[in-house]
Amino acid sequence: MSRVSVARSLLKRIEKIVGASGYTADPKEIEPYLSDASDRCRGGQSPLVVRPACTSEVAEVMRVCYELRVAVVPQGGNTGLVGGGVPRPQGAPPIILSLTRLKRIRAVDAIGLTTTVEAGCVLGHLQAQLETRGLWFPLRLGAEGSCQIGGNLATNAGGPAALRYGNARDLVLGLEVVLASGEIWDGLRRLRKDNSGYDLKQLFLGSEGTLGIITAAVLKLVARPRQVQTALVSVATPAAAMELLGRMTVLVGEHLTAFEYLDGTSMALAIDYTPAGRNPFSKPHDHYLLLELAASRAGDDLGQCLEAVLSAGMQKGEVVDAVIAASLEQARAFWHLRESVPLAQRRLGVVVKHDISVPLEHIPTFLKQAKRLVFGSRVDILATAFGHFGDGNIHFNLSATPRERGRVPLADLERLSRGIYDIAVGMGGSFSAEHGVGRLRREEVQHYKSPLERRLMRDLKQVLDPFDILNPGKVI
Ligand SMILES: Cc1cc2nc3c(=O)[nH]c(=O)nc-3n(C[C@H](O)[C@H](O)[C@H](O)COP(=O)(O)OP(=O)(O)OC[C@H]3O[C@@H](n4cnc5c(N)ncnc54)[C@H](O)[C@@H]3O)c2cc1C
Repeated sequence: MSRVSVARSLLKRIEKIVGASGYTADPKEIEPYLSDASDRCRGGQSPLVVRPACTSEVAEVMRVCYELRVAVVPQGGNTGLVGGGVPRPQGAPPIILSLTRLKRIRAVDAIGLTTTVEAGCVLGHLQAQLETRGLWFPLRLGAEGSCQIGGNLATNAGGPAALRYGNARDLVLGLEVVLASGEIWDGLRRLRKDNSGYDLKQLFLGSEGTLGIITAAVLKLVARPRQVQTALVSVATPAAAMELLGRMTVLVGEHLTAFEYLDGTSMALAIDYTPAGRNPFSKPHDHYLLLELAASRAGDDLGQCLEAVLSAGMQKGEVVDAVIAASLEQARAFWHLRESVPLAQRRLGVVVKHDISVPLEHIPTFLKQAKRLVFGSRVDILATAFGHFGDGNIHFNLSATPRERGRVPLADLERLSRGIYDIAVGMGGSFSAEHGVGRLRREEVQHYKSPLERRLMRDLKQVLDPFDILNPGKVI
């Protein structure tokens, strides 16, 4: 069949499956689906955005695409940061399969502590529904107002709560997946224990839409915290922060639910960006931590615990100053500062993000070496370091300085990336801690993964997607 007759046949058959309101071929309506939150992955095209309403419609769409060898890019909330959910400029334009209409919360089991939820359910919506029952799905992202459960699982999302509860893959008991062939794998098990063979769901978690379309999942829940203590702390050095982390891990154990870091540059940008933004300290510092303790039981014992840990830290010279949030509002203001850093830096022009992780003891050396690499080469480039210190994940982002706003070309920033990744990987770290590979980090997969690891990844892809129609040109 020629390309034109494939397109005609595709459109006719898709319309029959999803109805006239279940797709769009209007270029204006398609436009927002073509770039993601990284703002760096444009140029790809798509003739069609298809929005099936249920799993069987997803399966039927996939069967048609499999037969006609049409490529499919699954897309959730489109908050990804590596171009994984948008078409690449090369190759035949794929269709975009938006999961937005599969948004039902199918069940909540308040005794077994699980929820069965469809892929297109927005994370924030799920949290709001669970809150009314005193429950929580312990995944927390700055993008929770738009990102969807399917996208969270396909990217194995992390976020601040990963320190206590693990990444998305640790929070899943079962999955429903539509394969490239259109077959539906019903793996929606609610079991906490199941050693009855290979754990197939783990293949799809973190596979960024390249091995199957996640249509629903069984997620683990926890009781909603009823006691939360939040503190903004300035520490003498990153090494001092590590000492404090070590002590808190022993003293407060599972109550430590966030241990976030912001360097002085990140904090200055965030304060400048936030309308009521002001430094809660009387003078600026070089290193900040945002700490959170939480417990599902009511009471106020965590406040005393936090005070004790911080005053011990002060006596040891690790903690320079600390403010414990006196109200929920103040705690929110602290989190707002932390979450504003990427948006604040975006105002300086294009940003090249490095989402690295290293074993915890190497964080201080990583920061020293990465900053030396940047400042030793260019004075017009600004580096920010912030992120999830407690699990070894640092966002090390480059942009123009405020003075050079908008004047440093993307290529100049990108030139430093290999050196930054070399430092992290050389310490036993990773070039992608939580954002994934998508389109932007494929070269790193080729460069840093061993030939055997790459071969195994290719073999898996070949088994599950023999015609390379699922999100081609992503990950491998
Ligand atoms: C302000 C902000 C803060 C963020 N903070 C964090 C953070 O703290 N931690 C973190 O890990 N990430 C973070 N992110 C990145 C992003 O929010 C996450 O990667 C999120 O999990 C993506 O979900 P999404 O629904 O937007 O997926 P999309 O962007 O739509 O897609 C992401 C990838 O998943 C695939 N995909 C989507 N849905 C499905 C499906 N149903 N089946 C199969 N594949 C699918 C896509 O093809 C693509 O490869 C942040 C992003 C922003 C903009």
